[in-house]
Amino acid sequence: MAEHSLVAAGEEPEERAIEAALRPKNLDDFVGQHRVRKQLSLVLQASRMRGRTADHVLFSGPPGLGKTTLAMIVAAEMNAPLRLSSGPAIQHAGDLAAILSSLSEGEVLFLDEIHRMSRPAEEMLYMAMEDFRVDIVVGKGAGATAIPLELPPFTLVGATTRAGLLPGPLRDRFGFTGHLEFYSVPELELVLRRSAGLLDLKVNSAGFAEIAGRSRGTPRIANRLLRRVRDWALVHGVEQIDARSASAALDMYEVDKKGLDRLDRAVLDALITKFGGGPVGLSTLAIAVGEETETVETVAEPFLVREGLLGRTPRGRIALAAAWTHLGYAVPAGVFAQEQLDLFEAGADESPAADLAPDGQ
Ligand code: ADP
Repeated sequence: MAEHSLVAAGEEPEERAIEAALRPKNLDDFVGQHRVRKQLSLVLQASRMRGRTADHVLFSGPPGLGKTTLAMIVAAEMNAPLRLSSGPAIQHAGDLAAILSSLSEGEVLFLDEIHRMSRPAEEMLYMAMEDFRVDIVVGKGAGATAIPLELPPFTLVGATTRAGLLPGPLRDRFGFTGHLEFYSVPELELVLRRSAGLLDLKVNSAGFAEIAGRSRGTPRIANRLLRRVRDWALVHGVEQIDARSASAALDMYEVDKKGLDRLDRAVLDALITKFGGGPVGLSTLAIAVGEETETVETVAEPFLVREGLLGRTPRGRIALAAAWTHLGYAVPAGVFAQEQLDLFEAGADESPAADLAPDGQ
């Protein structure tokens, strides 16, 4: 993942160690996501009461919202060991067979980015999820034989940033699906308070509010910004972090008032300056900012859409009026505001978006 993105999971060992230390260990410590938490808690409690392994669980949503954390909580609440792997790491059915055949009874298998698993592995997973059995194919061509292998009951926890890409048969095999939403500012303040306590940092309420407001609705970013502010405070000899010091620190790291980072601003800026505000196709836009399409689509776009800065239309992405204003450009005539786009999506005839109507494709 590009190093300019504040959303991506850190690659450095220190970063990962801190992230692990800040992870809530049980459902009570997990902030926000009330609906998912309540439903998941019920699923787990019922499994415990029946003395059975929990149903397979799928978590979907943008990066950094707590999917891995919830997988760890599932294992902890079921008092079960946890195995971590990911779709991209499973390129052959044999990779998956090796993992599945070494699971112990009741173990929780976490597969991150499950939408990126190869097709043969995916098909093996269907049978494993449903019947706790896999067929191991030995040999090639006419002499190939399938040896059935019984598996101990296990719980699969899948995570995906692209629920729409999961094939129906895979989606249907999860007993419970939790879609994670962006967090509100007060929820992020709670995340930050908890983290500041663990890191032994002094921050006042206004300081928490300032950092939370710039965290893109994402706990991972909130924690990361908190550490950047901590560094700034240390170097500047600031004992207690307040709104002013948080703001000065985050300005330095190019995280703006709305929480947009460099990638977010690059996307909007390209859309406005290179494509006159759009509409433009996602892959063209990704090329213009030198990023992979998937990164723009899963990392930058969901937040920009939620903030009413970017719109998706049948003809491509458009910069909404708020994006022009936020980047300091005058809003040209004919540019939509969020409300107009909503009207258009609702199918209102008088919508000014008539020229964006799907042209029969
Ligand atoms: P994902 O798997 O969705 O990318 P993670 O589960 O790795 O996200 O979460 C990233 C970081 O954010 C973790 O270190 C964790 O401390 C923090 N975090 C995520 N969700 C919450 C939450 N609801 N409450 C507190 N901290 C959270």
